[in-house]
Amino acid sequence: MERTLIKDALQKKENTKVLLKGWIHDSRDLKKVRFIVLKDRTGRIQITGINGKTASTVFDEMTSFTRESAIEVVGTIQDSKQAKSGKELLPESITIIAKAEEPLPVDASDYSKSDLANRIDNRFLDLHSKKAQSIFRVQSTILQAFREFMTKNETIEAIFPAIIGASSEGGTDVFEIKYFEKSAYLSQSCQLYKQMLACSMEKVFAIFTAWRAEKHNTLRHLNESRQLDYEEAFADDKDVMKVLAECMKYMIQRVLDQNSEELEFLKVNLKIPKTKYLTFDEVAKLMKKEKIKIPEHDLSGEAEKKLGDLFPDTIVFVTDWPIKGKPFYIMPDGENSKGFDAIWKGLEISSGGQRIHEPELLKKQLKANGMDPKNFKEYINSFKYGAPPHAGWALGLERITMLMLGIENIREVTLFPRDRDRLSP
Ligand code: ATP
Ligand code: MG
Repeated sequence: MERTLIKDALQKKENTKVLLKGWIHDSRDLKKVRFIVLKDRTGRIQITGINGKTASTVFDEMTSFTRESAIEVVGTIQDSKQAKSGKELLPESITIIAKAEEPLPVDASDYSKSDLANRIDNRFLDLHSKKAQSIFRVQSTILQAFREFMTKNETIEAIFPAIIGASSEGGTDVFEIKYFEKSAYLSQSCQLYKQMLACSMEKVFAIFTAWRAEKHNTLRHLNESRQLDYEEAFADDKDVMKVLAECMKYMIQRVLDQNSEELEFLKVNLKIPKTKYLTFDEVAKLMKKEKIKIPEHDLSGEAEKKLGDLFPDTIVFVTDWPIKGKPFYIMPDGENSKGFDAIWKGLEISSGGQRIHEPELLKKQLKANGMDPKNFKEYINSFKYGAPPHAGWALGLERITMLMLGIENIREVTLFPRDRDRLSP
């Protein structure tokens, strides 16, 4: 017999015989009646054993299965007034496929009380829970929607190296690794590579893993995070901010369309955001009025939070950022720059801007940032042969997942987080 998925089984007429495969979510023994709630990737169904009606061999063993064990059940579909879905399964045979040992190291029920660290330690089992499944289904939709949006907009997808010979962002927060007889680094971003592609193929996107050896331990930082990257030629900061706003709206709409069940389970009221553009100077003035101190060339976490409070359900683009607060590759514009940050729900979700495409200016900016242009020779050379103006951004996958779902700790929306203390599972 072929397997039927639970969602399809729930559509079958009474007395249809089906074979289901899944996990035991819950079981109850009311002596004369015994229930097992079976779950698979498509839903849940109640298996009802009745003393005297169900074969005694099957009825007897119904109390012996442990939660989260994988089983195979053959039985017939019945209409049921009591069962939530209106249908139940009367079992003819139950076969254990893989037994779950007891006790379970982590509570995988719907309202698990296990703490997050324990859940991540036992992610393999935590992923049996509706909460974890809901989060990562939504994240999967975000990723697929990103690809879809970019593909529809004739953007090509690229994959970039994770190991590089020189630090890409110039900062100190890089992980050094041994690479045969040399030193190498884990990539902090795909900045330089996506620029090369933009300057040849015009529009490029990537889903890129970035490593940062930042020692801070916060609710919004990981040492390994995923970025949704975009870069476009013949474009400036304003052009790519529009793309980012459209892309965010598209991804959120897809989550609303595809994950209503998950959003309901997680009790999230997700809305399509509005967009607002403020210059850094305007934001600085706003913060002064609100008595929030900010660094001269940057926004503090408190300032980001305030922007979230002042402009709810809005992606706030903070534009014309002071050049001193942006990386060397951002195009200067007097004292300011063509760099921006996007803040949503009180958190930075993306940084981007127009890049420098002129070798001489790039050298000047490297020096201004205390870096030696000699160490960036290859990068600088790549702009000597017909490199047009271009712009782009990087959007944090885990950041937007946590914000969409109202989850406070970034580790919860990361399958296998890497932070200061965690390297496993
Ligand atoms: P922050 O100021 O919040 O530390 P950043 O300015 O250092 O972030 P960018 O280099 O601008 O980060 O990276 C682009 C995006 O990638 C950020 O806007 C954010 O959404 C995400 N991101 C960056 N660093 C991290 C990190 N350590 N953990 C999780 N997400 C990150
Ligand atoms: Mg940033």
